[in-house]
Amino acid sequence: QPTQSSLTLSSSSPTPPPTTSAAKNSPFYPQLLQTLKNVFKLPSFRTNQLEAVVANMEGRDVFVLMPTGGGKSLCYQLPAVCVSESRGHLTIVVTPLIALMDDQVKQLRNRFKVNAIAWNAESSVTERLLSSGDVPIVYVTPEKLKDSGFARDIMQAVDRKGLIARFVIDEAHCISTWGQDFREAYAALGELRQRYPNVPIMALTATANQTTIRDIISQLKLKNPVQLVQSFNRPNLHYIVHEKKGSKISDTIAEAIQARFRGQSGVIYCRAKMTCENLSKALSQKGIRATYYHAGLSPDDRQQAASEWLEGRVSVIAFGMGIDKADVRFVIHADMPKNLSGYGNSTITRIDSDNPTRYYQETGRAGRDGLPAECILYYNYQDLRSLRTMIDNDDNAASTPESKARQKLAVAEMYSYCRNCSKCRRAEILAHFDEKFDKKNCNKTCDVCSNPVSLVKTDATDIARSVLKLVTSAGNNRANLAQGQIVEVLKGSMSAPIKKFSGLDGYGEAKAEDKDLLDLVVKDLLFKEVLDTVSVQHNNSAFHTQYIQPGPKYQIFQKELDKKPFIVTWRPKKAQGKRTNAGAGAVDPTARKGRGKRTEIAEDPIEEDDLYVDDD
Ligand code: ADP
Ligand code: MG
Ligand code: ZN
Repeated sequence: QPTQSSLTLSSSSPTPPPTTSAAKNSPFYPQLLQTLKNVFKLPSFRTNQLEAVVANMEGRDVFVLMPTGGGKSLCYQLPAVCVSESRGHLTIVVTPLIALMDDQVKQLRNRFKVNAIAWNAESSVTERLLSSGDVPIVYVTPEKLKDSGFARDIMQAVDRKGLIARFVIDEAHCISTWGQDFREAYAALGELRQRYPNVPIMALTATANQTTIRDIISQLKLKNPVQLVQSFNRPNLHYIVHEKKGSKISDTIAEAIQARFRGQSGVIYCRAKMTCENLSKALSQKGIRATYYHAGLSPDDRQQAASEWLEGRVSVIAFGMGIDKADVRFVIHADMPKNLSGYGNSTITRIDSDNPTRYYQETGRAGRDGLPAECILYYNYQDLRSLRTMIDNDDNAASTPESKARQKLAVAEMYSYCRNCSKCRRAEILAHFDEKFDKKNCNKTCDVCSNPVSLVKTDATDIARSVLKLVTSAGNNRANLAQGQIVEVLKGSMSAPIKKFSGLDGYGEAKAEDKDLLDLVVKDLLFKEVLDTVSVQHNNSAFHTQYIQPGPKYQIFQKELDKKPFIVTWRPKKAQGKRTNAGAGAVDPTARKGRGKRTEIAEDPIEEDDLYVDDD
């Protein structure tokens, strides 16, 4: 696959990793392919899997960096069940978590009929099996290897008989103090090389930057390892984010498709099945060949939709599931997804990464042929609100308060990714994988880097104060203000529906301000949960309106405002007056004397993406 490059680190790997074609010429290839199909029931290898497996079969040390979900397990499970002539059969896999270990063992046994064992408790059966070397895969924690002299004795005995085929260090970044997941017991794995000099080692991880990679290799004392490092960057994808405003999303999407992707293959992700269906119908009515596909369809209908799309009889598919096709030219998100990647930097987030809506993975379906493709995401504050509500109302037993908090953070992160207008999208996405990306290399392949409108940082402290004042006053006077009305009231609009609020504190206080800026401040305060919305039903109708009220962080924010300025980064459509400062530079402190007290700009102002995270 040309889109997922595998790159070598020239500094520490004098021998390049085998290319796919070289790996296919390996004498092990036929057996490996057969085992892949017969035991693991998989049709083909994914990026770098074959290379890793072949190098390992050849007795080389191997280092693998592969995204979570990329298929690291297969890199060692496959060689483990292949008969190696020169070495014994035993593959010893070090993994950090007993839960993961049990899971893998269960899967190997039940699904693939491979006799694997988890070596945690002392058990005579396990030890007898081990001593005989007659078991293909043994999972063990690093603590067990470090602390149990008995375990080491057994291993040494097995090794003397030449029965250990390889050591596998999964989540190998835990050995590095550079990473966030350093584990004391991993450090002791450095001894494996001295104790078992003839046993090849394979180290795998999904999170390592260059420093960590070098550290892992040196700590495990890997000898001239084959390094298979997969970048998460997809250079041929363009990342674009739009706020949903005004017109219907189906109109917006239809326009985009007709303007730029006429007749081309694309995917539209929607959060709800209904949206899938409605969107697909709306697009069809506008002459775009579209269909939909989601888990609620019968297998037949799903199959039919999928094949129509795969065979190009329809060009656009609106769905919530995965089908792979090489020439997908655009991936559109009609709603904001739950999180950016589903791959956190810590082991904890990775465990519940089984999230159906993963922005990175979903956009990853675009441009698998290596040709340019666009990823367009439509979002708005409503998306954030409904996701937050969904998490709150989730009464699944598995949803602990901690996991809800984590999901909410992920959603917040997703929203600030969208709302952000100053940071390169590609750099932001790659930062999730610990991959540093210099935005100079983006070459305008994201909407932030290619936006010609100059960026402005505005001190919006006074505006925020006015908003709070108005919301408090509305509460005291039992006045219901909708989100859009807040802006109108602050502007001192004389229109009939707004004039009735002229008695409230704050009315007309921001007459001179740009409407877009006011709107942005209100949304940023909603995002930060300084404000909240309450849904009110109209008399005898199914019609609900969202009214603004103080949110859970109202008071914290109010106090903070006395100490720090509130800075908003945005791109004004109209040229800005004295209170803003063109360019992405610092805020001009003197620009604030128009209203309110004059404050020096603090070193760390409150910014729109700061969140108030509860400590408990
Ligand atoms: P990682 O450890 O890299 O996070 P896993 O080894 O758990 O990923 O694999 C993730 C998923 O990918 C599993 O469901 C696995 O069955 C699947 N997978 C692995 N290799 C392949 C392949 N060659 N083709 C299709 N699916 C694969
Ligand atoms: Mg894994
Ligand atoms: Zn960019």
